[in-house]
Amino acid sequence: MYEEISKILKKENLTKDDLMFLLSADDKAVQLIFDKAAEVKTQYVGNYTYFRGLIELSNICSKNCLYCGIRSGNKNVQRYSATDEEALKAVKYALDRNWGSVVIQAGERQDPKFIDRLENLLKQISSISPEKTGVTLSLGEQNLEVYTRWLNAGATRYLIRIETSNEDLFYKIHPRDELHNFEKRIQALRDLRKAGYMTGTGVMIGLPFQTMEDLADDLLFMQEYDIDMCGMGPYIEHEDTPLYQYKDQLLPLEERYKLTLKMIALLRILMKDVNIASVTALQAVNPDGREEGIRYGANVIMPNITPVKYHESYNLYKGKPEIVPETDKYISQLEKQINESGDKVGYEERGDPIHFKNRKK
Ligand code: SF4
Repeated sequence: MYEEISKILKKENLTKDDLMFLLSADDKAVQLIFDKAAEVKTQYVGNYTYFRGLIELSNICSKNCLYCGIRSGNKNVQRYSATDEEALKAVKYALDRNWGSVVIQAGERQDPKFIDRLENLLKQISSISPEKTGVTLSLGEQNLEVYTRWLNAGATRYLIRIETSNEDLFYKIHPRDELHNFEKRIQALRDLRKAGYMTGTGVMIGLPFQTMEDLADDLLFMQEYDIDMCGMGPYIEHEDTPLYQYKDQLLPLEERYKLTLKMIALLRILMKDVNIASVTALQAVNPDGREEGIRYGANVIMPNITPVKYHESYNLYKGKPEIVPETDKYISQLEKQINESGDKVGYEERGDPIHFKNRKK
């Protein structure tokens, strides 16, 4: 296995078969992949980790994704919407710590009230932020006009996860209806690109019914769509969701975690200059999960700076890490861990994806 992996890793372009072989690497051989990913990261994006302060603005969602703890059909969730003042306070917190970016995430809503509110909030954020501050949105599918309005109001990046590039699997983890449509999801990626955003997507790893072939296809999908950013994490089941019924068919959580690290490393090898987030779901499985992701190719971390009183209500999956009430202490610890993992924190920089800049040349 060692020799075959070394041979594949020397190739300029990786095929689907190559990726499937690499995804099946055993615990010993996988180190070759991790080493290669770390080398590529150093060469193409440098040993920097960029912090994006994550603000979970609201858990009100019109959709009903079958895996998600805050889906509209889950009546066991206390719904909230943080105020503009709370959001701006969180932005100021990120700016005071010299982070170059924030992320605004919320359940998906397309009603005019929400769209207007976001536009207004983005303008307020722009008015208190230095020019170079990056604002990433993760607010689901909208139309081109809305994307453009939000871009003009100050947003710079947009993350919309495809969750899986396999259409059949997509409809096993989403209801098949007007609101949940595979083609619309892909169109959203195209529209975001057209509007001028740095565009990101991502998938879940270890879903029921998912195969190695699906994961290899996911990597090739991201390459084909020439994405600028990616956030992908292990699928973690939530008991208040329809997908929970398949919990006995899942890979052990530890395996899903290892597969996620492999996917991060392989994406770094495949798309050398994109930004890759080391997501919180990794930390839900292993307390050092996000630092491991950084070591094996990721270069972005999104510390949660949502007001603590809302944390419990934004439970997308089971066992989401409890954020300690002393946010300062938690953040300082995270910064220390990044330094220990060999990266420097990219303070006072937006840390835009180099891929985007190269694409624009
Ligand atoms: S995954 Fe996103 S769009 Fe789907 S139910 Fe959850 S918050 Fe809503």
